[in-house]
Amino acid sequence: MEARLIDSREIAPGVRHFGFEALGVERLDFLPGQFTSFKDMIEGKEITRAYSLASAPSGTNRFELCLNRVEHGHLSPRLFDMKPGDRMEMRQPLGQFVLRQPPRDSIFIATGTGIAPFRSFLQAHLNESSPSFTLLFGVRYESHLLYRTEFEELALRYPHFRFWPTLSRPDAEWNGRQGHVQTHLAEAVGERRDVDFYLCGLKEMVDDVRGVLKGQGFDRKQIFYEKYD
Ligand SMILES: Cc1cc2nc3c(=O)[nH]c(=O)nc-3n(C[C@H](O)[C@H](O)[C@H](O)COP(=O)(O)OP(=O)(O)OC[C@H]3O[C@@H](n4cnc5c(N)ncnc54)[C@H](O)[C@@H]3O)c2cc1C
Repeated sequence: MEARLIDSREIAPGVRHFGFEALGVERLDFLPGQFTSFKDMIEGKEITRAYSLASAPSGTNRFELCLNRVEHGHLSPRLFDMKPGDRMEMRQPLGQFVLRQPPRDSIFIATGTGIAPFRSFLQAHLNESSPSFTLLFGVRYESHLLYRTEFEELALRYPHFRFWPTLSRPDAEWNGRQGHVQTHLAEAVGERRDVDFYLCGLKEMVDDVRGVLKGQGFDRKQIFYEKYD
């Protein structure tokens, strides 16, 4: 299958939001949280990389991605260089990082572009009768808070959705949460033991948070995760 770029826009320094359409299908079937893979030939070698779908299934062949450009990386700079109309080989979405059914009150923990599957989760699953969700989102700088306005609007609309951004390198004007996501876990959980955790981002954060949660006595069956590296 091929994906054709419709448009892309910078949403933070070094991060772009991409709109694609899957060619040859009327509808791209996937579950919120799953990833697709893009494939290209680079210096005679086939390079494949996974990308979480950042949008909910739309009933059409359109889908969205959120990527950061990895300096000296193989495929991500290629994707950043794509112009509307350009195509790249893609695979049918798959993956196990999906919301447990039936969903329970959950804490979503993301760093950087690890936010992508949670945007899809929230678009698809957050509504008046959904369980409570907390999104704990860690980035270095305020300008890296991807999709901030969207999440703030959701938090205003749904009292059972909490958006908790935290900055590891805040400037003097920031009066929100500071430090890594780990710092705010205990407050997010409170006394509850019957919540699920969904973690997405680079290995270092995911492994660390899993360690903290296990140390607090949470069962590994309550902890779902996707590592990007
Ligand atoms: C299931 C899954 C879903 C993914 N979804 C996304 C996504 O939605 N958005 C996204 O930007 N990436 C995502 N990734 C990472 C992506 O697959 C690539 O690893 C990334 O684009 C780098 O590829 P590259 O060929 O440019 O770099 P390579 O030449 O493969 O260089 C790899 C280097 O980049 C680092 N790296 C990998 N991912 C990142 C990242 N996101 N930020 C910073 N450094 C990174 C690795 O630690 C390694 O040092 C996902 C990975 C997996 C396994």
